[in-house]
Amino acid sequence: MSHPTDESCIFCKIVAGQLPCFKLLEDETTIAFMDINPVNPGHALAVAKGHWPTVDVIPPDVLADVARTAQRVAKAAIATLKPTGVNLLQANGAGAGQSVPHLHVHILPRRPDDGATLNWTYRPGDRAEIEEISRRLKAALE
Ligand code: AMP
Ligand code: ZN
Repeated sequence: MSHPTDESCIFCKIVAGQLPCFKLLEDETTIAFMDINPVNPGHALAVAKGHWPTVDVIPPDVLADVARTAQRVAKAAIATLKPTGVNLLQANGAGAGQSVPHLHVHILPRRPDDGATLNWTYRPGDRAEIEEISRRLKAALE
């Protein structure tokens, strides 16, 4: 199946076999491989084969395929590495910490005190503000 590519993109090069990776699985629309700068042991990525940078531009069926691949990898990590938990994480835009503009989901098997800094503590929000933002979002839903 044909998909958009970007010749300067590192993940497009991995998809095309022009750069090496520790591949876990591949299907028609997705690929999963180990992250080369792991936050912790077992850190892997589920990646769309096509070059769509972010969640707002990827076709929904491909996003669903990426989610299915992330689930397969997470199940393998749970069964094999027996982590205390698993985070699935997907960043969109530099402000969210995205460094590779080609859509991917991180699979992060967690360990106590593993130093991954993506969790936060609860702090009750302002209900009026929550409601006002929810109204704006509802009006923009497609
Ligand atoms: P993000 O910051 O969410 O865009 O995540 C990009 C991830 O891709 C980072 O965790 C990098 O360590 C990882 N990464 C970058 N280049 C490679 C590569 N050649 N092979 C595997 N993972 C990579
Ligand atoms: Zn790409």
